[in-house]
Amino acid sequence: MSGEPYGAPDGVPNGVPSREYAGGCMCGAVRYRIGAEPIMTRACWCRDCQYFGAGSGTVNVVFPKAAVIVTGELSDFRSIANSGNVMHRRFCPRCGTPVFSESEARPHLTIARAGTLDDPNRVRPSATIWTSSAPGWACIDAALPRIEAQPP
Ligand SMILES: [Zn+2]
Ligand SMILES: [Zn+2]
Repeated sequence: MSGEPYGAPDGVPNGVPSREYAGGCMCGAVRYRIGAEPIMTRACWCRDCQYFGAGSGTVNVVFPKAAVIVTGELSDFRSIANSGNVMHRRFCPRCGTPVFSESEARPHLTIARAGTLDDPNRVRPSATIWTSSAPGWACIDAALPRIEAQPP
């Protein structure tokens, strides 16, 4: 992810994973483990995320796909994102929780929805993207950099 202005790892010295991340869907049918630190974490107010977030935006934690181990079945909804990228939205077919998304433009990355982590406190957004799509009543952290649309 060179060239990403907000791509610093979330506070881990030397990029060495301290312990793995774990999470899953609401009903427990899907579980995952990730043996790597996040590459970045960002809040997103793109129009698509407002559907997944039920009115809010989403918080997305980007991991190297190679470090992600999933148990259980995920359904795949393919769509074209506001950015123009072909996205695969992976969700639990039983409870509907949006768990991951993946972009065909960046096949080496898996994006986990922060709410699916067993401990969402382990991550923190470093920027808010797609603020141009947010409704006027959106609560957007004033302390974070804002990017109006898709970052380069
Ligand atoms: Zn589920
Ligand atoms: Zn989004």
